Amino acid sequence: MSSSAARLAEVAERVARARASAGRPAEAVTLVAVGKFQDAAVIEPVLAAGHRVFGESRVREAEVKWPALRAHFEGTELHLIGSLQTNRAAAAVRAFDVIHSVDRVSLAARLAAAIAREGRRPRCLLQVNTGDEPRKGGCAVAAADGLIKVFRHDYGLPLVGVMCVPPAGADPAPHFRLARSVAEANGLPELSVGMSADFEIATALGATMVRIGSAVFGPRPAARPR
Ligand SMILES: *Cc1c(COP(=O)(O)O)cnc(C)c1O
Repeated sequence: MSSSAARLAEVAERVARARASAGRPAEAVTLVAVGKFQDAAVIEPVLAAGHRVFGESRVREAEVKWPALRAHFEGTELHLIGSLQTNRAAAAVRAFDVIHSVDRVSLAARLAAAIAREGRRPRCLLQVNTGDEPRKGGCAVAAADGLIKVFRHDYGLPLVGVMCVPPAGADPAPHFRLARSVAEANGLPELSVGMSADFEIATALGATMVRIGSAVFGPRPAARPR
C-alpha cells in the first residue's frame, strides 16, 4: 500500500472513532481527500485502494488532472472546495459533482444557467465566512439565510448544505457551530467543515463532509501560478 493510501486508512479510522463517540451513525461523514497541487501519480494509489471522493481547489487543475483518472476509476466523485470565479462557473459544472464554495448571487445565477445548459446538476453548498475575514471566500453570516432563499427560489440551485473555513489559528469549534446553525435553520442536511488539523472536532460537532489534504497526501507542493 502506498503511504498516502495507508494514511487515508488511518484518517478514515480516526473519523470513524470520532463519529462513533459522538453517537452518530455509520455513513454520516464523507471523507473528501483533497489532492490539490498533488500530481495524478500521487492520487492514483488512493483511488487504487478504493477511495472515490476527492477535492480540488481550482477548476483548471481539475480539468487537467481528472479526466484520465476518472476514465480509469469508475464512480469517482469530485468536489470543488476552492473559491470559484464567476466566469469559470460553467467549467465547474462540467468538471465537478459537488461545489462547496457558492457564496454570491452572481455566481449562483451563472451556475444555474450552466446547469440548465450542460445537463449536469452538481450539488451546491453555501460557503459562509464565519470569521468575517477580509479577502476570504464566503458570504457574511448575516447574509446567509437571505442568500439561501434566493439560491433556492430564484435560481432553483440544488443547494444541500453549508461550508466554512475557520480563520487560521482560531479555535474552530465556534465556527463549525455557526455553520451548523445556518444549515439547520434552513433545513440543509450537509455540513462541510473540518480539515487535517481539526476533522475530529468537526466530526464531533456534526460535519457530514470533512476535507482532508495534508493528513492524507503529506505536505503540499507549492501552488503553481494560475
Ligand atoms: C486545502 C484545503 C483543505 C485541506 O487542507 P488540509 O489542511 O491540508 O487538510 C480543505 N478545505 C479547503 C477549502 C482547502 O482549501
